[in-house]
Amino acid sequence: MSNCKTISVCNQKGGVGKTTTTVNLGVGLAMQGKKVLLIDADPQGDLTTCLGWQDTDSLGITLATKLTDVINETMTDPMVGILHHEEGVDLVPANLELSAMEFNLVNAMSRETTLKNYLSQVKNRYDYVIIDCMPSLGMVTLNALSAADSVIIPVQAQYLPAKGMTQLVQTISKVKKYINPDIKIDGMLLTLVDSRTNLAKSTVEALRANFGNQIRMYRTQIPIAVKAAETSSKGKSIYAYEPNSTVSKAYAEFTKEVLADGRKKERLHSHEAR
Ligand code: ADP
Ligand code: MG
Repeated sequence: MSNCKTISVCNQKGGVGKTTTTVNLGVGLAMQGKKVLLIDADPQGDLTTCLGWQDTDSLGITLATKLTDVINETMTDPMVGILHHEEGVDLVPANLELSAMEFNLVNAMSRETTLKNYLSQVKNRYDYVIIDCMPSLGMVTLNALSAADSVIIPVQAQYLPAKGMTQLVQTISKVKKYINPDIKIDGMLLTLVDSRTNLAKSTVEALRANFGNQIRMYRTQIPIAVKAAETSSKGKSIYAYEPNSTVSKAYAEFTKEVLADGRKKERLHSHEAR
């Protein structure tokens, strides 16, 4: 059995920090000695661009290629085309070709589990696979949820965050019921927190009012900072770009929380094995 944990970073709302979280959680885990594969599951290719591959159109092999190879049973080497970032993470990149998969997957034989099938061919090499989802709940995102052991939901500190959250939680419940019975929501991560306002507090209160203790909030909150926004165009993580920033420290703390969950799982397994 593979000990790899697959995490989908998901929220159908755009601009909530999914891609930023994927980069800095991924690199954070790599800095702790974990082998990490990041999957860009957004046709915008923001994760790919953020990690320094600006010209996504010129990429020969992307996630769309891999999914197509699974559908057509034409996979030769599942590792070919995976990019290596200097900060120690691997990446399956994406570009606009991924948008065609929304349609191509519909008629595929195992349409919800095509990505899961691909990951099963590479995951034994990694400790963590982290999937950066696009801002929609279409076929590709459904594939990301079907492939995931757990979901991390970044939530922007703002009024009425619970609105779209209900739809997301319902979608995850359906995936759990029909496709992936073991999927868990690891937690919600509050992002873009402006300490000058009370929005973080009211957001947490609104989420608690709507979901009770059903979904855990990570202890760490990610502050809003200009340096974090700048990092997107630098091809590196916040740790490399601005190691002493508040956002760098917050993502390092968040990484520890994610690692603690992983260790719990490992303890459970070693207990079961005895
Ligand atoms: P999503 O993937 O959910 O669309 P992104 O991670 O791309 O969200 O973030 C949206 C925008 O906000 C990007 O321009 C990003 O650089 C910026 N951003 C993300 N996190 C922070 C932060 N902590 N402080 C300031 N800007 C941020
Ligand atoms: Mg994104």
